[in-house]
Amino acid sequence: MTTPFRHPLAGRRALVAGAARSGIAAARLLRRHGWDVTLCDRRAADAAPEAARALAAEGVALAWGRDDAALLEGHDVLVWSPGIPVDHPLAEAARASGRPVLGELELGFRAAAAPFVCITGTNGKSTTTDLVGALLRSTGRRVEVCGNIGRALCEVASEVPADGLLVVEVSSFQLETVDLLSPRVATWLNLTPDHLDRHGSLETYAATKARLFARQGPQDDAVLSADDPVVAACHEGRARRSAFSTSHAVPEGAFLDSADVVLARAEGRERLMPRSEVRLPGPHNTANVLAALATVLPFDPDREALRGVLRTYAGLEHRLETVGEWNGVRFVNDSKATNTDSLRVALQSFPRPVVLIAGGRDKGQDFAPLAPLVQRAVRRLVLIGEGAEPMSRAWADTPQERAGSLAEAVRRAYEAASPEGAVVLLSPGCASFDMFRDYEDRGRRFKDEVRDLMARGEWS
Ligand code: ADP
Repeated sequence: MTTPFRHPLAGRRALVAGAARSGIAAARLLRRHGWDVTLCDRRAADAAPEAARALAAEGVALAWGRDDAALLEGHDVLVWSPGIPVDHPLAEAARASGRPVLGELELGFRAAAAPFVCITGTNGKSTTTDLVGALLRSTGRRVEVCGNIGRALCEVASEVPADGLLVVEVSSFQLETVDLLSPRVATWLNLTPDHLDRHGSLETYAATKARLFARQGPQDDAVLSADDPVVAACHEGRARRSAFSTSHAVPEGAFLDSADVVLARAEGRERLMPRSEVRLPGPHNTANVLAALATVLPFDPDREALRGVLRTYAGLEHRLETVGEWNGVRFVNDSKATNTDSLRVALQSFPRPVVLIAGGRDKGQDFAPLAPLVQRAVRRLVLIGEGAEPMSRAWADTPQERAGSLAEAVRRAYEAASPEGAVVLLSPGCASFDMFRDYEDRGRRFKDEVRDLMARGEWS
């Protein structure tokens, strides 16, 4: 048995619903703490991940092909996966019977010894979380980055000692099932109307995000975007407030002043470095960098160490990732751009002309508002997948062509880009599921196609 929970959880028999990454991690954590655990999933055993089936050897009871309320019998709590809507009958039945329903984030919080640094928002979570981890590591502390990136929280929660830090990327779905969660620092990056299919309205979505701050006390810090009116208006909890802004000075936190990154504390302001020395490209990353700095400021990190990280930190795979430059053409993989907001910020990130490869599973987005930016920034469009048709209509004034495969798109984009040394940018603005397993598969295939094409040398 490992150390007891920091915040106790009554009972000793848990039902864990959802046998994916976080459910598996939650089941194992509870087992390590001596609980009896049943893991259920409505999928059949042969469709479940191997890691879930292997839990039988650790004493976890497995219930495949089931998500019915009868499973609750003999269990004290229900651990809920962020992948399943919280109004599912099983969760409703647990609540109706007085059983606590908690998510993996809440469970990890109760079990962990280390303070939490949590980052949420619609866009930029992974990048900012990873950067916060890199910046905090420069303080010499033991830091684990987890949540949606890296390992699941419950996998690492008990590994990090009380003087370390758990840096957690938090999605709004995870916040639907928190209770005592109280981060030492909580950061809210931005809010745009994504996921409204699940949250119903922008108000409910905003209220869910605000739960990250509800339990914070006066010794904690809440970092809010000063550029986003909904985020800036969040008054949940009792934490000290600080902010970040790309457009104006903030009393505490970090902001951009002309071309300099400035840190603001109660004691005064300090210029950290010129924006141009920060490696991450694009105005959206300026926001992410400022948010990350405001998040680490309560730990008073060494300034030279911060500068060192920001000069070298290149970002995550599939987010404006430079694949390479051949014959004056730079290839950039931004496969993570699955909505029009991400596509917009990508197009704002390059001073050079862009040949854009876009398209994919059409989620019914309105592409028309992007037309002026596409017209200005894009030299030529190469459209793929189901999104090609609506994009082509919305951006009819920009020169364009269709490609039947990613390989063809890469070849056509390179041909269009090489005469003037443009950037070939894969920033699809759509989901990937029409042609690929997921955005990572799409990004890797893009990089493979680029490298193949260049290795064949037919184009030099
Ligand atoms: P998340 O984890 O929230 O999805 P990522 O860091 O993985 O965020 O970035 C996802 C996409 O959103 C990327 O394509 C990126 O270009 C775009 N993006 C990143 N930061 C921001 C931001 N601050 N505002 C708007 N879009 C952003």
